[in-house]
Amino acid sequence: MAISSAPVLGASNTFGRPTMDHLLDHHPRDEMTRELAHHVMQQHIGCPITVCAVKLQAKTFLVHTKRLVPQSTPRTRFGF
Ligand SMILES: [Zn+2]
Repeated sequence: MAISSAPVLGASNTFGRPTMDHLLDHHPRDEMTRELAHHVMQQHIGCPITVCAVKLQAKTFLVHTKRLVPQSTPRTRFGF
């Protein structure tokens, strides 16, 4: 019988991580958003920025965002 040859690899290796866990992960993110950056800054408030990569990434992102896209500037000013 060849029934047992059905591929079941990876069935026990699903991504079952809780949603809150990724916020406490100190590794940098592939994609950073303003919301995530604020969450990271709060969750990693006790982390030294020289050690916590994601906190450094978040802070850098926020600094760049503030400089490049001022929130107080309305879009209508540019006629969009
Ligand atoms: Zn951290």
